[in-house]
Amino acid sequence: MPDDGRGAGEVVLVALRGVVAMDGPSGTGKSTVSRRLAQSCGAAYLDTGAMYRAATLAVLRAELGEDTPPDRVVAVAIGRDLASGTDPACPTITLDGADVSAEIRGPEVTGLVSAVSALPEVRTELVARQHELIEKAVRDGSGIVVEGRDIGTVVVPDAPLKVYLTASPEVRAARRGRQDARAGREADLHVTLTDVERRDKLDSSRRISPLYAAADALVLDTDNLSADDVLARLRTLVAERGLEG
Ligand code: C5P
Repeated sequence: MPDDGRGAGEVVLVALRGVVAMDGPSGTGKSTVSRRLAQSCGAAYLDTGAMYRAATLAVLRAELGEDTPPDRVVAVAIGRDLASGTDPACPTITLDGADVSAEIRGPEVTGLVSAVSALPEVRTELVARQHELIEKAVRDGSGIVVEGRDIGTVVVPDAPLKVYLTASPEVRAARRGRQDARAGREADLHVTLTDVERRDKLDSSRRISPLYAAADALVLDTDNLSADDVLARLRTLVAERGLEG
């Protein structure tokens, strides 16, 4: 599956009503198909992983010592001005007014993000901000595709369509590696695979909002599916669930 957000010129086919919750681990193609689905429906798009990454960047920039108390880490993580743009054609994330979309994908943030996102107070704050953005999109009537780890289980448990994407760790690491290479970041497949497995473990085993498929989510294994295949399935589901506006 291409994982480059291809489909920037996606033709708007139908409108979307309500929220589509897209969950799953790293490298399953979530971002690519979530953006394309939002674009093809004229809907908003929210990448909640980018929010946790930006909060993590704030922590890294503060250069806190290893023995910093957790409440200080939390204060730094959520104390900065963090803003998410919800246009799927050009999703943005800013920290204190500066675009950090590229910086949040670097290895330092990737290495620390699972620890920062496991802090309960960080989650409470970022989920509140996610709710504001989701409610605005629903109020505006555009509908919204939201991607993350806990969207169908915690953030929008009553979403009318929940999809959980999976793929084998090897396929996901290869996708991540291609993304890194395209973005000009050095990528060693073995290191990427180790990181994918490490984050899977941390994200799935944390006490608050662990990663798992909601009981009513449709689980799609994307190992042998192209982005076009997944998108076609999603559009069919949107129609079947009566979510076309
Ligand atoms: O999706 P992405 O790989 O950018 O997410 C980065 C990290 O952010 C995940 O590994 C996870 O620790 C955290 N995350 C989360 N809850 C979400 C989205 C992301 O805990 N809804």
